[in-house]
Amino acid sequence: MISYAEAKRRVLEQLIPVAREAEETPLTDSLGRVLAQTVYASEAVPNHDNSAMDGYAMRSADLGEQAVSLRVVADLPAGSYFHTPLQAGEAVRIMTGAPIPPGSDCVVMQEQVKRQGEWVTVPPGQLPGQNIRPAGEDIAAGSAIFAAGRRLGVADLGLLTSLGKSTLPLFRRLRVALLSTGNEVVSPGQPLAPGQVYDSNRATLRAALTLLGVEVIDLGSVRDDREALTAALRQGGEQADALITSGGVSVGDYDLVKEILLKDGQIDFWQVAMKPGKPQAYGRLGQAHFFGLPGNPVSSLTVYLLMVRPALLKMMGAATEPERRFQARFRGSWHKRHSRMDFLRGIVHFDHPDGSPASSPWVEVTGAQGSGILTSLSKANVFIILPEGPAQIADGDPVTVQWIDYA
Ligand code: AMP
Ligand code: MG
Repeated sequence: MISYAEAKRRVLEQLIPVAREAEETPLTDSLGRVLAQTVYASEAVPNHDNSAMDGYAMRSADLGEQAVSLRVVADLPAGSYFHTPLQAGEAVRIMTGAPIPPGSDCVVMQEQVKRQGEWVTVPPGQLPGQNIRPAGEDIAAGSAIFAAGRRLGVADLGLLTSLGKSTLPLFRRLRVALLSTGNEVVSPGQPLAPGQVYDSNRATLRAALTLLGVEVIDLGSVRDDREALTAALRQGGEQADALITSGGVSVGDYDLVKEILLKDGQIDFWQVAMKPGKPQAYGRLGQAHFFGLPGNPVSSLTVYLLMVRPALLKMMGAATEPERRFQARFRGSWHKRHSRMDFLRGIVHFDHPDGSPASSPWVEVTGAQGSGILTSLSKANVFIILPEGPAQIADGDPVTVQWIDYA
């Protein structure tokens, strides 16, 4: 059985981004998607020196050791522009964001001055350049904003909009086919007969794929029937870049997914030394990369998060990012008997239970850890990673944890 690290390395090294050609895409459809080309700033942001405060723009040369009175020659709201250079003894009323009038070189906050009619009295102690946001302080004209491979986040879309971009060169959206297997699996909305379970895997996996920003081809839930399963898998292999199944990859009598893959496609591996998630398959079917997830609800979502999600991100063209891991102190104790790498579901805290700040983060397990106990994952914010081999974890021992990232 190969290790988690080895399995992940093997999957990632076989994957390449879906498309080399960029697809010019509306910015409104770009959240979570990946830039196929580096984006440069066509202009500076902000594109003019502007006021950081509501107040008065003036010439610092006019100011002195004593308070000085200046004549207010214009009112300048944001969005308007004062063209005439400021003369000695003049000031302009200015609002936050409005361009600095030519000739002026400082802004004094309105709270600091006294205004009487068209005169404003300015106290001493003002400095040239104060309260002015220089052009280009955010982005210099011509600079590279984002490299190819950047997965666009919320603030990124603001930055790109401030440059006037309305479309972006993106990798095309990944197509991911999803199906669940099992005679006992029933879609919600129907009554549950004895021995049946609702199809929670398709719900979690579909939601996770939606957050990732891929196009989901939902092939439904398929019975453990050789013909039906062969047809559904073939459809996924033809239509999708990646095909994800749940169930049917362990060693039971009805675990047909593996059997069909061996016949119609290829399997690279079908067991990984991790818990949850020992039975899982990776291979190829038709044009699709195939990910066979275990049926147990915690196992399928855990394998998705730890194996499939990084793989899909690579296929989407995203630059590889390190796992977000850190150390925390274990609260309680844990006896690890098996030799596989363990991914316990945990909750990290930065405060003591009484609300006082802790000197280092600590982590507790989310109750019972069975692979069918989905509350263990819904409560968790991290995986607690226990390396291969048996171990006895005592209260206060340092452990490695990894944030659970869905998006
Ligand atoms: P399998 O991997 O097919 O042997 O399934 C292992 C366990 O997971 C069984 O108890 C199944 O009933 C359960 N299971 C399989 N598929 C699903 C699903 N889509 N939703 C919820 N539970 C499932
Ligand atoms: Mg099954």
